Amino acid sequence: MQQVSVLGSTGSIGVNTLDVLRRHPERFRVFALTASKSTDALLRQCLEFKPQYAVMVDDQCALSLQSQLKQFGSATEVLSGHDALSEVASHADVDIVMAAIVGAAGLASCIAAALAGKRLLLANKEALVVGGAVFMAAVEKGGATLLPIDSEHSAIFQSLPDVRELWSETVDKLILTASGGPFRTWSTSQIREATPEQACAHPNWVMGRKISVDSASMMNKALEIIEAKFLFNVQPAQIDVLIHPQSVIHSMVQYVDHSVVAQLGTPDMRGPIAYGLSWPTRVESGTKPLDFASMPSWTFESIRSPEHQERFPGLFLAWETLQGQSGATTVLNAANEVAVAAFLDRKIRFDEIYSLNRATLDALAFTTPRDLPSLLVLDAEARSQATQFCKAWSI
Ligand code: NDP
Repeated sequence: MQQVSVLGSTGSIGVNTLDVLRRHPERFRVFALTASKSTDALLRQCLEFKPQYAVMVDDQCALSLQSQLKQFGSATEVLSGHDALSEVASHADVDIVMAAIVGAAGLASCIAAALAGKRLLLANKEALVVGGAVFMAAVEKGGATLLPIDSEHSAIFQSLPDVRELWSETVDKLILTASGGPFRTWSTSQIREATPEQACAHPNWVMGRKISVDSASMMNKALEIIEAKFLFNVQPAQIDVLIHPQSVIHSMVQYVDHSVVAQLGTPDMRGPIAYGLSWPTRVESGTKPLDFASMPSWTFESIRSPEHQERFPGLFLAWETLQGQSGATTVLNAANEVAVAAFLDRKIRFDEIYSLNRATLDALAFTTPRDLPSLLVLDAEARSQATQFCKAWSI
């Protein structure tokens, strides 16, 4: 029986994770569930999964959850605050940690799980984009097993040789596929005026609001390029992006002999989640099988066409920041989190997400953070700078 802490259990990935865990009560037991403020959702999850711990980042929400759980006679212990996230991520009784908090807020608990040598299922890509080499050093130091949950990175992991030592000599290119999101065919003037509702209406995937906006701007793919560089230890130039609107091919590896190995499946996050939980074996995930005979054709588009370069300028910031000082990706992530929140609050236009990211990158002298405290300082500095730009630009 494997004990699992699900960080961010009330979000889209968290709920999908619990759906997979529910299917395998003989293999997995929920040890801890965490949320920021969604008290009602966490209460329901605690009553069903009976974890040892529930963490709410917000103190008031934690008090409310505790009193409600008491009324139901629940034995779940409620903790509060950010440090409690790291506690349940690194607890000696935990085998597997699902990192499904959104944004840089998940970094400290990811590093805690890594240093404690857990099987770390990484959905929280921002943590790796912020943490970069510091994050990977923690994984190595703690002897953790880091498994990707992003469907693209899970696909690449599944398409790579089992023997890790062969990766560097056999891999030519990693090809990340991208659906192109809701604005793939929109003009730049339409994109300029896009609303949060339009940006969150992804054609193939149902996801949290932040990643939905990132998918619409293709900043999500930029974050994934940076994530792939650290996960698979390749050069930025070895990572390519291909638009594939049907989202059936989840990503591919091109080898030095130009053979290509791809991983396919229905667009359903329970697939990569089940793989991360059960690796190196496989378990039933709840996803539907592909029906090849009834499938319309698959299509592909270059992201380097002049139209896509104009539509999705944020995508290209990935390669640019990976060429600079290591702090550049930290700055980019922080600026983007501020920009997406401001767009969802209708304070800036959609096209200003890119402008704000660009301006914050240009404004900050890049550094090379060497540990978690210096990463957090740079993250805060970039947020403050981006927030100042936002105030000046607010519509
Ligand atoms: P959601 O917004 O749906 O859920 C986020 C979760 O994190 C919720 O449980 C939320 O709690 C919690 N949370 C939010 N802010 C904080 C904070 N400051 N401190 C602690 N916990 C917090 O996000 P998703 O599930 O969509 O995404 C989670 C991560 O997975 C992201 O990094 C995303 O990029 C990645 N990912 C998501 C995919 C998807 O299909 N959704 C696909 C691939 C990757 P509360 O409910 O209380 O707000």
